[in-house]
Amino acid sequence: MKKAVVCGAGGFIGGHLVARLKREGFWVRGVDIKAHEFRKSEADEFKLLDLREPGNCAAAVMVDGKPADEVYQLAADMGGMGFIHTAECEIMHNSMLINVHMCRAAAQAGVGRYFFSSSACVYRDMRSDEPDITEDDAYPAMPDNEYGWEKLYAERMAKAYQRHSGMVVRIARFQNCYGPFGTWQGGREKAPAAISRKVAEAADGGVIDVWGDGTAMRVYTYVDDLIDGIYRLMHSDMECPVNIGSDERVSVDDLVAAVAAVAGKRIKIKHVEGPVGVAARNHSSARIRSLGWVCQHSLREGLAKTYPWVAEQVRRKRGKGPN
Ligand code: NAD
Repeated sequence: MKKAVVCGAGGFIGGHLVARLKREGFWVRGVDIKAHEFRKSEADEFKLLDLREPGNCAAAVMVDGKPADEVYQLAADMGGMGFIHTAECEIMHNSMLINVHMCRAAAQAGVGRYFFSSSACVYRDMRSDEPDITEDDAYPAMPDNEYGWEKLYAERMAKAYQRHSGMVVRIARFQNCYGPFGTWQGGREKAPAAISRKVAEAADGGVIDVWGDGTAMRVYTYVDDLIDGIYRLMHSDMECPVNIGSDERVSVDDLVAAVAAVAGKRIKIKHVEGPVGVAARNHSSARIRSLGWVCQHSLREGLAKTYPWVAEQVRRKRGKGPN
């Protein structure tokens, strides 16, 4: 039985990845600094470790005295635009330490395959009418935020370890991902979860605040589609970084309309000041498609699986009273 380690298994995408690897027949160890907030881990073993510490990284990648066959590195100090714009130092410090130590520990231990979760934030700001950006267009580099710079550095480090240690490295650049079991409140939530929460809290005909003027163009990828891309990429011979994201491009206002439609509510938008991020990032998905990947969920279909989960969290919180 192949042994996989998922770092960041207490988080949104890591939790879904553990479930997929179990379905594929792997023995799985989850690692995170905290337990999952919303689901019981399906991992065979779950270790609480702070991966900023090199000794913990070395312990994470060894299973029964042998290096894991596959390591998926998704642990990061992570959040939506609000978090990315305010917690720049924490992101640069914490995520960098995790990546520096995890990559080295995996290479030194002799791990077979190493997956790194990068982001579309490595790309520059774009106009929505510009031609699609390919993975090679990450250079000359001009990410619009520190989170993107940290990802770019970590990508390069992982590739350097591949060149010098022989560890196979696979890198995906995720577009925004959404789905059930993700952060939906507290400041780290991303737009689909935040808008779902606001719509769930609003009455029919109510008004919700939306950061910016609502015209920023975005790609939202349902988590099962993203996980399928990760799995295909990890087991492919694709040496270069690969974008994973839906081809459906929508404005932030379109996202609100889609959530409202799924919720069956009439919602009015009040545009307010707030961190918006780039105007657009038109990624090419040719590489991931060349691995047979197809995005199975439209935004509407993904939200139909996500909104009810967020609405349920909102109902439960209300039931608990003012706290
Ligand atoms: P998440 O915040 O839900 O998961 C990250 C996990 O890392 C958390 O459970 C957190 O506790 C853990 N972590 C943080 N610091 C740690 C430490 N010191 N030691 C051990 N664990 C630690 O985020 P996510 O949305 O599941 O994202 C997973 C990965 O995908 C991240 O690397 C993120 O940057 C990347 N990514 C996500 C998106 C998205 O839309 N969600 C987009 C692009 C890239």
